[in-house]
Amino acid sequence: MASRPFAEWARTADAVRATTKKLSKHAALAGYLGALDEADLPIAARLFAGAPFPRRDERVLNVGWSALADVLLERSGRSADDMRASYQRHADLGDVAHELVGASPAQGDPLTLADVDAAFATIAAARGTSAKRELLRGLLRRASADEARYLVKVIAGETRIGLREGLLEDAIARAFGRDHDAVSRANMLCGDIGTAALHARRGTLETPTLRHFAPIGMMLATPVLDLAEVGRRFPPPYIVEDKYDGVRAQVHKAGDRVELYSRTLDRVTRRYPELIEPLRAIPGSFVLDAEVLAFEGDRAVPFTRFQTRLGRKDVTGELQARLPASLVVFDVIERDGGVLLDAPLEERMAVLRRLPLGGPLRFTHGRVLEETGEALVAALDAEFTASRARGDEGLMVKDPRSPYRPGRRGMEWLKVKRALRTLDVVVTAVEWGHGKRRDVLSDYTFAVRDGDRLRNVGKAYSGLTDREIADMTEHFKDTTIEDFGRMRLVRPDTVIEVAFDQVQRSDRHDSGYAMRFPRIVRLRPDKPVDQIDTLDTVREIAEGR
Ligand code: AMP
Repeated sequence: MASRPFAEWARTADAVRATTKKLSKHAALAGYLGALDEADLPIAARLFAGAPFPRRDERVLNVGWSALADVLLERSGRSADDMRASYQRHADLGDVAHELVGASPAQGDPLTLADVDAAFATIAAARGTSAKRELLRGLLRRASADEARYLVKVIAGETRIGLREGLLEDAIARAFGRDHDAVSRANMLCGDIGTAALHARRGTLETPTLRHFAPIGMMLATPVLDLAEVGRRFPPPYIVEDKYDGVRAQVHKAGDRVELYSRTLDRVTRRYPELIEPLRAIPGSFVLDAEVLAFEGDRAVPFTRFQTRLGRKDVTGELQARLPASLVVFDVIERDGGVLLDAPLEERMAVLRRLPLGGPLRFTHGRVLEETGEALVAALDAEFTASRARGDEGLMVKDPRSPYRPGRRGMEWLKVKRALRTLDVVVTAVEWGHGKRRDVLSDYTFAVRDGDRLRNVGKAYSGLTDREIADMTEHFKDTTIEDFGRMRLVRPDTVIEVAFDQVQRSDRHDSGYAMRFPRIVRLRPDKPVDQIDTLDTVREIAEGR
């Protein structure tokens, strides 16, 4: 069957948006999804979730706001002023696209779901902004105003069409007469609402349980900015482990077969030949969650050194001898036929401790903390220092009551990495915030010095107090150089101190670098702009790690 028109999808999305009633949303969605064939269904479901790709997929479109704005201006033939005015009204690039494109006709063949899916794949695969722009141009040329609205929303990552993933799961369940929890579970295990929808259609929602050698999404952790935040996330007890700075691995064993999978669910067994025999020697079947790294004695080898092994598909004897891999096991999700996904962590740890690990296989360094308040902060602080002394990165704090949630980032696993260091930078652009912060300019883009130029290196939500943010909003209104509606370029005179975990090469900013997890520590009115940190320093930090 030929792929269905994308216009139909957009009409359904409009219908969902038009109502606040859950039942009407369900009815519109279920009716539409229920009529799709096997090829279109997963694409349509993913798009309703606002995602161009399966969740488990690492691909990103990586289309900058400015490229999107440029292409939109071209497609609509409207001016930058029109765009600004429209943005002031809607504060959503998708709705701006809809308004600007208006009655201007689409060209070429009408888009189908398969066309949209293929276009996203090519955009993600394209390298460089101009290639991406060209592809985007080709896609939007074929889109009507209604279609452009949703394409732009997905590309800009703002699919606020009043549809939470839970509601989508509900609609899928209803479309095919299945149970909501079964759909939700399949979604979790598949790491993709599209595949889950296919299972619902086929009546195979029970198949995506855990199967050996079919890796599932790994449970993810949420970063906390300081130790005091831990106590606000959940009550004691806390399982506290070292955060090992290595490579995540999911280990499957059944019969004589052992395989290791990466976070992207690729098979990486051949990278670590020295781990295979010891794993095979453990009786029975299992699925483990673990980290691969190297040790010298009891100290972890820094990741940058271990990394030299990773680029290779096959590891030579020489590399193996120089940097033998160890496996630190911190979770077990299947043991001897019993799936442990729903068992509380505490119970899984008990199963884990009964595994006969030895040689290159180790247990995670874990202990239980019962403290609260300041005593908890003090205990975590001591654990943190001890973990760093062992060469590890920081701490993982886990809720002993929690199940294993494949592919989910929740508050049940917290990661505590202390900021590497801070840099003094200058604010070059600001944006209106969201929700409670929609009336203040709370998101800052900032730059370092490069000779007499400024080069952007990151963007952060303000970590300042409400009072400071309000004052800074007034200041930025006065120092606006250009007002793009949602975003304003401002006179670069506000120096702030930002903390971050890492600096990486990236083409997101014109400096060629981007900070990971930047947060604003404080305003630095005492510091003149010509004394802020430089691009050389950023480069040193990035290359030095
Ligand atoms: P991050 O990569 O910074 O998002 O931190 C999460 C990662 O920490 C996980 O994906 C694991 O690879 C790694 N990790 C290290 N030690 C542990 C541990 N004890 N428990 C869970 N994850 C860990």
